[in-house]
Amino acid sequence: SSATETRAFEAEVSQVLHLVTHSLYSHKEIFLRELISNASDACDKLRFAALSDASLTADDAELRIEISVDRDARTLTIRDNGIGMSRDEVVENIGTIARSGTRKFLESLSGDARRDTQLIGQFGVGFYSAFIVADNVTLTTRKAGAPAGESVRWESAGSGEYTLENVDAPQRGTTVTVHLKPDESEFLDAWKLRELIKRYSDHVAFPIRLPAQKDGGASDQSRTDEFETVNHAAALWTRPKSELKDEDYQAFYKSLSHDFNDALAWTHNRVEGSQNYSLLLYVPERPPFDAVFSGRDERKGLKLYIRRVFIMDASEQLLPSYLRFVRGVVDSDDLPLNVSREILQENRLVAQIRSACVKRVLDLLEKLAKDEPEKFQQFTTAFGNVLKEGIAEDGANRERIAKLLRFASTKSEDAQKSVSLDDYIGRMQADQEAIWYITADSHAAAKGSPQIEALRAKGTEVLLLSDRIDEWMIGYLGEYAGKKLRNAAKGDLDAADGGDAERRKQADEAAQPVLKKLAELLGPKVEQVRVSQRLTESPSCIVLGEYDMALHMQRLLREAGH
Ligand code: ADP
Ligand code: MG
Repeated sequence: SSATETRAFEAEVSQVLHLVTHSLYSHKEIFLRELISNASDACDKLRFAALSDASLTADDAELRIEISVDRDARTLTIRDNGIGMSRDEVVENIGTIARSGTRKFLESLSGDARRDTQLIGQFGVGFYSAFIVADNVTLTTRKAGAPAGESVRWESAGSGEYTLENVDAPQRGTTVTVHLKPDESEFLDAWKLRELIKRYSDHVAFPIRLPAQKDGGASDQSRTDEFETVNHAAALWTRPKSELKDEDYQAFYKSLSHDFNDALAWTHNRVEGSQNYSLLLYVPERPPFDAVFSGRDERKGLKLYIRRVFIMDASEQLLPSYLRFVRGVVDSDDLPLNVSREILQENRLVAQIRSACVKRVLDLLEKLAKDEPEKFQQFTTAFGNVLKEGIAEDGANRERIAKLLRFASTKSEDAQKSVSLDDYIGRMQADQEAIWYITADSHAAAKGSPQIEALRAKGTEVLLLSDRIDEWMIGYLGEYAGKKLRNAAKGDLDAADGGDAERRKQADEAAQPVLKKLAELLGPKVEQVRVSQRLTESPSCIVLGEYDMALHMQRLLREAGH
């Protein structure tokens, strides 16, 4: 083997390492889940690679994860016989944080420990979480298919640098050895490890093994090499629903999403018919960090399996963009194992699965709205604006999506978006034909709009829309349940809803001299000056023609440089 090479971590890695070890201490046992999840990913990757090159697993076909401790050396070892890494891959994967948005993430930290812990959790800490409990970590790895002599050993104390060394590893796969800090002896206890594996990693689809417990305390040294499987070792979604508890679903969600919080809701289905597949789809409690900064480009979170083999993250192929907050697994019995992204894009079976995913998520949200309004409110706060995109994106489901939207209105007590279009329609006045709304930059501005004074005075409810997407979304919605959506700042109010024609005529005549004077003063800046039925308190307001672009939209376009 060659001389040891010492390298410095990228500055960002050092920063993340420091943050992880200092702010996640109260969640320290997650390190085990993270290392097991990496081992499981490595087994998934090898199984996938072996589809096109069976020789990769020929000598050692049973993929597994083994965990052992050495009490004297104070080490905990997690070994997998998965895909392994080449020297370059180790440098790439373990020495850098190749995540877009890392810098933004670091900048967004506030110094407020509680909030930062949440953010770091949402960011996903992965391999570095080992340093919460370790003062030294070594990783020895040999890539599947590579000769023993190309193995590499990585070692670091987690403080700015690491060493790399070529070694001979007898088997393929990766071994991570965690040297525990003086206070972390609990992770040397086999019972403790067993409990943590059951709690966090029971759903891992590969066997996780610990040295077999010796019965009756007899110290039969000859048996110490024997391992026993401690997890369920079957893909969670293949197990019968009746056997699964909420905790099982939540633990699986957390390892799937790296979210520290529970999922808000989920739906688990086995579909059998012209094609067979399983779906397990989750709605998170809050947006993950990635979605905040990388937006629509880098969609992740829905994993495609084919007959239990992990194929790829196929969120973009299996979900429309407006449901990009959904996390989960699709496992198909019928797609070909050699499927590519291009094939997925135009495959008929995939199109069916995709519409089933949409249907199941909308079903789930409807059920949540009906049975658990508080949770649904949480959903609205977290993802209501993303869902609104569906009004434009998914014409076929427009009505169902519209039913799930919630708004603030002149009848709600605060800025909370809690009024559904059905609520609104249920409260409409006898002579009212349209659903009225107003858009503005903020809730306060919408609420204080002079354009809605007359409607308010009449007791007509007005939806107060203040999200950037609202104007655009309403443009696609147009109407709901046969009722037109009308902007209170546009056109002639009376033409739409009731009004006293005689009174109006008199007021018009009385005001003629003032109108003339104002029209002269304002000149070409306005199209028309007229008496308004809109106002009860304010002396004047700006009104748009029925087909003019809303003021709010005009402002947005100006900001965007149009
Ligand atoms: P993530 O798993 O989210 O990608 P991690 O920090 O947990 O982030 O791991 C970083 C990368 O290191 C992985 O993507 C993988 O490429 C590599 N890696 C980590 N552990 C293993 C392992 N046991 N076997 C093979 N590759 C690994
Ligand atoms: Mg990981």
